[in-house]
Amino acid sequence: MNISDNIVSLKGVGPKTAALFAKLNVNTINDLLRFYPRNYLKYDEPCDINVARVGERVAIEASIQTYVDIKKIRKLTLVTCMVKDGTGQVKLVWYNSPFLKQMFHIGQTYVFVGNLSVRNNQLTMEHPEYYTHEQYNNMKMSMQPIYPLTIGLSNKTVTKCVKAALPLISSVEDNIPEAVIERFALMPLESAINGVHFPSDFDSMLECRNRLVFDEFFIFLAKMAMIREHTVKVANNYVINDFTYTDKFIADLPFELTKGQQTAINDIKNDISGLTVMNRLIQGDVGSGKTAVAEIAILTTVKNGYQAAFMAPTEVLAKQHYSALSKDFEKYDINVELLVGSTKLSEKRRIYEDLKTGKIDVLVGTNALIQDKVIYNNLALVITDEQHRFGVRQRAKLSEKGDEPHVLVMSATPIPRTLAIIMYGDLDISIIKDMPTGRKAIKNCVVGPKYRPTAYKFMKEQIDAGHQIYIICPMVEASENIEAENVIEYHERLKEYFPSNVNISFLHGKMSADEKNAIMDGFNNREIDILVSTTVIEVGINNPNATVMMIENAEKFGLAQLHQLRGRVGRGEAQSYCIMLCSSENKDALDRLDILNKSNDGFYIANEDLKLRGPGDFFGVRQSGDMLFKLGDIYNNADVLKMANEAIEYLKKEGYPLESLTDKNTAVYL
Ligand code: ADP
Ligand code: MG
Repeated sequence: MNISDNIVSLKGVGPKTAALFAKLNVNTINDLLRFYPRNYLKYDEPCDINVARVGERVAIEASIQTYVDIKKIRKLTLVTCMVKDGTGQVKLVWYNSPFLKQMFHIGQTYVFVGNLSVRNNQLTMEHPEYYTHEQYNNMKMSMQPIYPLTIGLSNKTVTKCVKAALPLISSVEDNIPEAVIERFALMPLESAINGVHFPSDFDSMLECRNRLVFDEFFIFLAKMAMIREHTVKVANNYVINDFTYTDKFIADLPFELTKGQQTAINDIKNDISGLTVMNRLIQGDVGSGKTAVAEIAILTTVKNGYQAAFMAPTEVLAKQHYSALSKDFEKYDINVELLVGSTKLSEKRRIYEDLKTGKIDVLVGTNALIQDKVIYNNLALVITDEQHRFGVRQRAKLSEKGDEPHVLVMSATPIPRTLAIIMYGDLDISIIKDMPTGRKAIKNCVVGPKYRPTAYKFMKEQIDAGHQIYIICPMVEASENIEAENVIEYHERLKEYFPSNVNISFLHGKMSADEKNAIMDGFNNREIDILVSTTVIEVGINNPNATVMMIENAEKFGLAQLHQLRGRVGRGEAQSYCIMLCSSENKDALDRLDILNKSNDGFYIANEDLKLRGPGDFFGVRQSGDMLFKLGDIYNNADVLKMANEAIEYLKKEGYPLESLTDKNTAVYL
């Protein structure tokens, strides 16, 4: 057996299981060994129901009181029953698991483990795990890996398969040069992988994990160093130095540019009129006005006779940019087009043609822009918005579309400068520090579920004053389907609460692009008063008339993500509000939210967040919200990032051929 063999060659892994693994991009034995747990569970002593903490994962030992009830709600099958111990009772809820009716009978006692919440005044546990007393005793106090799953593939199966692959662990290829392993005293890769799957205790798991995070960062930085080496030498093929229209456009803007915007624009002007190609990051907090900077760069490029491409991470955002550009460039005779996944085929063909002939000046879109079929005429500028949502490879692929075009990337990720220099090693950085004048600071509050009716009443007043509202629904970990159901259900309950002239609509990730676009149009045209949504609206959306953002289960989000969500309001002149509804009484959760409550400054928040975190906070909430790394998180693992950077610097000094590292197939999503 070989490490690169398909996992079906493992004992106990059949073609069915292998097919499910394939959905998770696990094909070979190597993939399986590199398929890391997303978290670990500790199984504590069960506690009495009356002292079990709401908002937390708890174990209770309780007996079944009622027949198991099965109900169908749309596509969901809901399985419920009541259990109790000597101190209280809890309602158990499972989704799409009708077989449980055969499992559970009145009077039986099990240990149930899950998150405790209060629904309709009733203690509820959703999708609890269940164990007999004896099974539970065997697991108690150990650390169990939890893997990312797909429907049909259970955690037990994944665990079993990983165990079956362990004998081959010594054949996993180590990507780190011997010299670095020695110099930085890295533990053997084998032990690290083993210890991440099946840790003996928390501290050793962290140590093992750090070795793997180091690997991710190391390869990433090696690639960055290569890109950098390439770009600093590239001559400017598109010297752009006629700024007549640029100045006119700026003078015609309905507002004064902030200092930060002006500096960014000057940096860009210097770059594109200079000797080498531009590679610049514009970093500015949410709402700092990065789009205007992008517009000015695009207009300048087009008015010097070239094409520009503008890439956004979601269709909704791409469409918003397209509308804004079309409108703002109206007087400037610029042909803007939109290309996204849902664009009709005939329309796509026309766009490909017009792009090739140069009839189109600006193409706005999603990663549809980087498909092979898309060929430009004289592409001189590529911009990616919300860069943290893309991999470096996607950014590179867009720039490969032209002959070394200028590159501008925009990010709101409030990453401290020291880390930014490492992470964006291949880019020059302009930072927009100031917010447009006339903005009122967003007013925040962190409240419990009891406050909900008050919040609704407040929303009604805001709607009567002509404003609009976002509500972000509780996140459900189980699946996207349930998340969608949740949003729909919430929106229906809300409809009962508000008078019928209040228009309430919803948005979730399972909707088609057309449906999403229609909803966003409705919201932007002020036809919708309240938009209930999952985090799909998180990035970039701009409706300055929206003044309230309410986030249910705020404790379940990372601070950076909350900050992004909050950034959807406070974009106009009116006073805006962010209501963070916290369903947990956990002190750490409240302390974290308090950081956001006190400050609207993304950089400050990121720094405070780092200070508050202990080594135990690695899981659950991913701070950066970006998916560059499987394990590594630039905030949580800042130390490891710095160490990996030192390692690269060291190799560069030694004249080590970095290019030999860059074709390594690692966890990095480049
Ligand atoms: P972000 O940096 O989050 O992408 P946007 O570019 O979407 O922010 O800008 C947010 C809002 O601020 C938009 O409505 C935009 O028109 C407005 N805006 C941008 N720059 C200024 C400015 N200098 N003065 C006033 N409003 C501005
Ligand atoms: Mg933006």
